[in-house]
Amino acid sequence: MDLVIKNGIVVSGAGEYRADVGVKDGRIAVIDGGGASGGGLRGVETVDASGLYVLPGAVDAHTHLQMPFGGTVSADSYEAGTRAAVCGGVTTVFDYAIQRKGKGIVRTVEERRALAEPGACADIAFHCAITDLGEGCALLDEFPKAADYGVSSFKCFMVYKKEGMMIDDGMLMRIMEKAGEAGILTNVHAENPDAIDARIAAFIASGKTSPWYHYLSRPEFVEAEAVKRAVHWAKALGAKLYIVHLACKEGVEEVARAKAEGYAVFAETCPQYLEFTSDVYKREDGRNFVCSPPMKGAESREALWRAVKAGVIDTVATDHCPFMQAEKDWGRDDFTKIPNGCAGIENLYPYMLSAANTGRISFSQAVRLCAETPAKLFGCPSKGSVTVGKDADIVLYDRARDFTVSVKNMHSDYDQTIWEGKPLKGYPVKTFLRGKLVYDNGNYVGVPGQGRYIKRSESGCL
Ligand SMILES: [Zn+2]
Repeated sequence: MDLVIKNGIVVSGAGEYRADVGVKDGRIAVIDGGGASGGGLRGVETVDASGLYVLPGAVDAHTHLQMPFGGTVSADSYEAGTRAAVCGGVTTVFDYAIQRKGKGIVRTVEERRALAEPGACADIAFHCAITDLGEGCALLDEFPKAADYGVSSFKCFMVYKKEGMMIDDGMLMRIMEKAGEAGILTNVHAENPDAIDARIAAFIASGKTSPWYHYLSRPEFVEAEAVKRAVHWAKALGAKLYIVHLACKEGVEEVARAKAEGYAVFAETCPQYLEFTSDVYKREDGRNFVCSPPMKGAESREALWRAVKAGVIDTVATDHCPFMQAEKDWGRDDFTKIPNGCAGIENLYPYMLSAANTGRISFSQAVRLCAETPAKLFGCPSKGSVTVGKDADIVLYDRARDFTVSVKNMHSDYDQTIWEGKPLKGYPVKTFLRGKLVYDNGNYVGVPGQGRYIKRSESGCL
């Protein structure tokens, strides 16, 4: 073996067990649960994981790195974002490549890939956000080619009408139908754009400009309407649907109903919706919490936790899209000028594992939500679990280590985070990417560029 991780407790989506893990050529080659022949694995390198959990590297299925948005570019480059990712136990990062008018899907992803690969510290995959189907909906014909290139999920923004990124219902229906044929999963950002634009105009006209009005311009019912509409089309067309960053109670109920009826409707939420409520927008630094959809009321937060425990929520991802303090400050006197987005890529796994460590969910649930399910759902068969044959993306986690999040101990390029001061119970101590140590006790120790592009297979199957 090239590497043997001894004496740890392996956590899978199904349970926990003591075992030694042998790694050869970047893959998990042996899992030795001991017994009569136990303890016999020999490695060029041996790591003693006594007292530690041995977890699969997490898969963050939702990030926006180096993304032009809100009059600037999100603060984390591909290198900084993926460096921070592995330091928080995320070894696979999904980025959203945004297709623009007149540009093909593969071309769009190729361009982002060229930006990402030179400095990638984690393995990287792409969803494509479709914004324009072109003359005669010609882009639909490119779907099989996109799937061949490894891009087996598309996002449709049901919002951002004025920004020119919205997909209307007619386009959404056509995309859902055609995507299904090509083994592509349709992801939606569900909020109602007309309601938002009308409410924003009314608030601004009456001088209501604080971040609290960001929340009130897109409250629970604005998101719920779009979730229901998307689910309606998915049911009517027999299409598979994945709702990104689900944040409201009514939306959770809609997804639960669709699942109970047997539809392939999947949902993702984010740590920020599990942790915060809309009260953050009343704070002096409320602008730093501005993201879309916004954090909702306590009822929604509780509904999300119940859905996480019950399996109605399939994945937890971050929507990582940080901005610098000076950029957030553009909206000090006008919430419409605040770039939308928050940091989270380095906090996802520690946050969900801390929830497990304090008994809110089980460790197996945390592993399913953050690693196993996103890997399966988005066509990454070599990722997401500590199993023979998979890539050796492994996190060693110390349940006894306490950690307090601060911008000072994060590995990104941003200068403010909504997670500042958050205490966590337990923390990753080592991360391996395909068998290579990339994070060790607070330090990034990998080589930028060692992350690889993941050519995905079909999405939408669990
Ligand atoms: Zn997003």
